Formats: sequence, structure tokens, C-alpha cells
Amino acid sequence: MVPVIALVGRPNVGKSTLFNRLTKSRDAIVADVAGLTRDRQYGEASWQGQRYILVDTGGISGDEQGLDMIMAGQSLQAIEEADAVLFLVDSRAGRTAADELIAQHLRKRNKHTYLIANKIDGADQDSIQGEFSKLGLGSPIGIAAAHGRNINPMLEMVFGEN
Ligand code: GDP
Ligand code: MG
Repeated sequence: MVPVIALVGRPNVGKSTLFNRLTKSRDAIVADVAGLTRDRQYGEASWQGQRYILVDTGGISGDEQGLDMIMAGQSLQAIEEADAVLFLVDSRAGRTAADELIAQHLRKRNKHTYLIANKIDGADQDSIQGEFSKLGLGSPIGIAAAHGRNINPMLEMVFGEN
């Protein structure tokens, strides 16, 4: 079976940027406008011979309250379908209420989750650890999807156990 890995996180954290980098596909719409990618996008990728399916998810942008408003139903469905979740947060923005709600959901669903702190190009390493460890999903790994920084260590973490 080819594992399915879902990219999850509030709008604008860099999910589509990471999707495009890993799948080398231009299918996902990378937008400067938060929440433009509203539909699930599937891409095929591989790491050291291990094939996997990557799922990009969108969210609803804005100031709405509650998990259902942060993540569209299709994002929640993508979590259910996935073997593992890459939960992206924004290092520059820090931990937000939306991050807390998503983390809460992932802990409740008991999904195999990797906490990914994107945009480390604009953030302080030490504060990332302290900030995002509080989400209760372990220690984050910092990456910069836009610059390809630390992508291999991230994949090593996800697939290295196999
Ligand atoms: P999504 O809504 O989670 O899919 O986020 P996008 O992939 O559309 O990215 C949102 C914004 O963050 C875009 O302007 C990206 O160029 C920017 N972005 C993505 N990755 C990085 C990164 O590693 N560093 C910085 N500085 N910006 C990034
Ligand atoms: Mg997107």
C-alpha cells in the first residue's frame, strides 16, 4: 500500500508551497491570498524509493470561530483518509488559536502527526521549540518550504522509521 500523507494547517502556513516542492507539481494553487486552495489536491511523490500520496488541503480564511470554520470539511475528511499528517504551523506568526484548535482535533483523532514549523527563514530557532511544543504534539521540526530548507531531514523523520 502506498501511504497517504495529508498536509494540514490553517490558511497561509505554506501547505501548497510544500506540496509543490515535494510533488514537483503545479497543480496546487499557491496563493498570497489566504485560503485560496479550497479543494483537496492529490499528488504523487517519492523519497528514497518510497512512493507516497500527498494530499494538499485548503481552509476557509477569515476571522470565523471554531474548527469547522478554520478547516473546511474536506480538510477534516483528508485527515481521516490519511495514514499520517504533516501539521504545518507558521514560525513567523507563532502559535495561534487556530493552531490550538487543529492540534486539539489531531490529538483527539489519534492520528500519526508530525509537527512542522514552516518559514524558519524568518524566525528564531529557540522560540520555535518553546512556542510550538505547547501544542502537545511533540517537538516541531523547522523547515522553509519556499527555500527547500530542511526538507530532507523532515522526510527522514517521516519515512526513516520504515
Ligand atoms: P497555504 O495556504 O497553507 O497553502 O499556504 P501557501 O503555500 O499558499 O503559502 C502562503 C504564503 O507563504 C505564500 O506567500 C508563500 O510564498 C509563503 N511561504 C511558504 N513557505 C514559505 C517559507 O518557507 N518561507 C517564507 N518566508 N514564506 C513562505
Ligand atoms: Mg494552499
